[in-house]
Amino acid sequence: MVMTNHTPRNLTLDQALAEAEARFVARNPRSMERHKAARQWMPGGNTRSVLHFDPAPLTMTLADGCMLEDLDGHRYVDFLGEYSAGLYGHTNQTIREAVVTAMERGTVLGAPNRYEAGLAQELVQRFPGIDLIRFCNSGSEANLMTFAVARAVTGREKFLAFRGGYHGGFLLMDGEHGKLNAPYDVELLDYNDTEGAVAAIRRVGKDLAAVTLEPMMGSGGCIPADQEFLEAIRKETEAVGALLIFDEVITSRLSEGGLQKATGVIPDLTALGKYLGGGLTFGAFGGRRDIMAHFDPSRPGGYLHAGTFNNNVLTMAAGLTGLTQVYTCKVAKTLNAAGDDLRRRINVCFKRVGMKAQATGLGSLMCVHFTDAPVKRPQDVKTLDPQIKRLFYMEMLERGQYMATRCMMTLSLPMGHPEYDGLVRAIEDFCVDNGPLLRELGYIQN
Ligand SMILES: *Cc1c(COP(=O)(O)O)cnc(C)c1O
Repeated sequence: MVMTNHTPRNLTLDQALAEAEARFVARNPRSMERHKAARQWMPGGNTRSVLHFDPAPLTMTLADGCMLEDLDGHRYVDFLGEYSAGLYGHTNQTIREAVVTAMERGTVLGAPNRYEAGLAQELVQRFPGIDLIRFCNSGSEANLMTFAVARAVTGREKFLAFRGGYHGGFLLMDGEHGKLNAPYDVELLDYNDTEGAVAAIRRVGKDLAAVTLEPMMGSGGCIPADQEFLEAIRKETEAVGALLIFDEVITSRLSEGGLQKATGVIPDLTALGKYLGGGLTFGAFGGRRDIMAHFDPSRPGGYLHAGTFNNNVLTMAAGLTGLTQVYTCKVAKTLNAAGDDLRRRINVCFKRVGMKAQATGLGSLMCVHFTDAPVKRPQDVKTLDPQIKRLFYMEMLERGQYMATRCMMTLSLPMGHPEYDGLVRAIEDFCVDNGPLLRELGYIQN
């Protein structure tokens, strides 16, 4: 690992960024080259917008445990964890064996297979809001299905959601990038504004099909919902006969039964995804028996739900083995406790160096924000300077720490104290090495 030790550090953010970028380019010639080639065949060389990074994203070629290796041979601790889908790490032997065994017996059977009902059973038993469940291929698809079902069962058209929420590629709740959104009638409210939410639910009343929300905003910055906010929305939706939808695609890992189990606020419909497929492509939606029973194909006039790979053998096998043999209730507790502790240590570190920054989140999901003001909704961090995050991101890469460009981190099972200690040390080094600049910018005041 090449460390940065050029002193004195530059005193403008632009200069610091230009230098970090020059070092990035010099250190990653093969990733730069691959990206250039890819641009010929895919728009911007990209097939998944979130992975874009200027001047080029790092191409990863190898992964084991919680480590990644890029095309230029650098190794990183994988704190991105595939945006939480990588909970099991990269080389879990139990899951690997299950996938190989399944593969050897054929993967395109065109029939129910021996795994899917077992995975359904495990999920129904864990998530209190899910009496019956169906599978699909992504969290985006799962969320679309919850909207489609809510509209069909209520016969109503209006939805309420929260500004800065993310429910997959067709349901971006930011009012800016949602040009490709599915054309549902969605009104956006402020997250954690209980009064506002209650008033809106009452106002829309019997036209309201559903309120949808992440019980902790993931992509919006790992911002937990207040308990009273969730409880009020539960109560008011029920009063007007609207459904409550939880998007637990990212939060399902926060207890053995997601945040619905942890908070006791039980939604009518739930969308799932990410790690629950054991590291393979996955989505699922489920909920109240009377709602989901509409999908029973033996019922006249039921809903049709298609998808060639809904029960794809590899995902079903990996997901089932992952939940029953690896991410057991006890392991879920341990991992999330480790995350709580790591987040606390990062915040102690920021305090110690006098840095105006914080790690928000719950359990094994966290995000660094460069402010010391309370973060209650995505708008609280949207106005912050994105350049400081960019510098932090690039300098963390140089220190062997891989995370989301928005500085979100998710823990995986192979991680332990060496990785946690290394991350805290890297964060402290970033603050100390950039001390003069961070003081100049007002992030450090001492
Ligand atoms: C990742 C995510 C999705 C989308 O899932 P995909 O499998 O990427 O389509 C939806 N909602 C939340 C909260 C997510 O974190």
